[in-house]
Amino acid sequence: MKFLVTGGCGFIGSHLVEKLIEEGNYVEVIDDLSTGSLDNVSSFLNNSNFSLVIDTILNYPILEELVKKADFVFHLAAVVGVKRVLENPIDSIVINVEGTHNILKACAKFNKRVLLTSTSEIYGKNKNVPFSEDADIVIGTTTKKRWGYACAKALDEFLALGYFEKKGLPVIIVRLFNTVGPRQSDRYGMVLPRFVKQALTNSPITVFGSGNQTRCFVHVKDVVDALIKLIKKEEAYGEVLNLGSDKEITIRELAEMVKKISGSNSQIIYVNPKDLYNEGFEDMERRAPDISKVKKLIGFTPKYTLEDIIREVMEYYRNRL
Ligand code: UDP
Repeated sequence: MKFLVTGGCGFIGSHLVEKLIEEGNYVEVIDDLSTGSLDNVSSFLNNSNFSLVIDTILNYPILEELVKKADFVFHLAAVVGVKRVLENPIDSIVINVEGTHNILKACAKFNKRVLLTSTSEIYGKNKNVPFSEDADIVIGTTTKKRWGYACAKALDEFLALGYFEKKGLPVIIVRLFNTVGPRQSDRYGMVLPRFVKQALTNSPITVFGSGNQTRCFVHVKDVVDALIKLIKKEEAYGEVLNLGSDKEITIRELAEMVKKISGSNSQIIYVNPKDLYNEGFEDMERRAPDISKVKKLIGFTPKYTLEDIIREVMEYYRNRL
């Protein structure tokens, strides 16, 4: 099959592209290299089943051409990472909404199937953990810029569901929860690559706040396998699905695990997130998905443990440092 992957040079995108090529498919990528990089795709950059267009998803004419040629579209391109979102309040909304609308419009025009990646950020400050897909969106005030991202992604979902209903567009919406693994950059705030790099350089491991906040971390390879399985399920079209691990861990425990596995001399320190972020930051206390829907649909259970993931990320950073 011929796939179009938007954001295919990014962390998750590049793993998805790699797997699609491995399975014998042809993959075209559009990426503006804002957070993605050529380094991420270096192992298949010269593969004859891979081609890359360096451009933005705001360029509708180019997008139309690419969508027209594809059999299926994976839409991953977005402004991501809390740090980047806070530093780019306009792009976080314009690229994430207008860009996604462009994809949906082009897919509807040529009647192409599409999978759209959304985010657990959508649940915001909802306290009813674990979150099922029909849980309420509870977001904070507009002066906390972080919520602009959740709002933009929520609009994407509304648009996609609207296209499904009104234009018959075959679309799947997947809400990703804290996906981690090799190639994830430490530059945009994400906790695991930051902790690993801090541990490997014997710098302080910076836990924000009390460290009692929780997240569930899943290996990018588990995510990519699931995405590819999902597109083969007719029942998935028109649905919103959570995808991630359901094993909740506090950020303090995560810091301790990283320190122990690396054998680092780093101190674990508790800092105010304002050291890294500006005023627009607000944290979420607990985040965990209810994954029964995706389990039922494709039998999803993560294969990799958090320890496996930490070791792999450590290996990745060790080679680079
Ligand atoms: N975090 C932390 N230290 C860091 C970076 C992040 O303690 O150096 C915390 C952050 O406050 C949040 C959690 O780790 O509670 C996950 O942060 P990340 O940005 O990776 O993802 P998200 O908040 O979107 O789940």
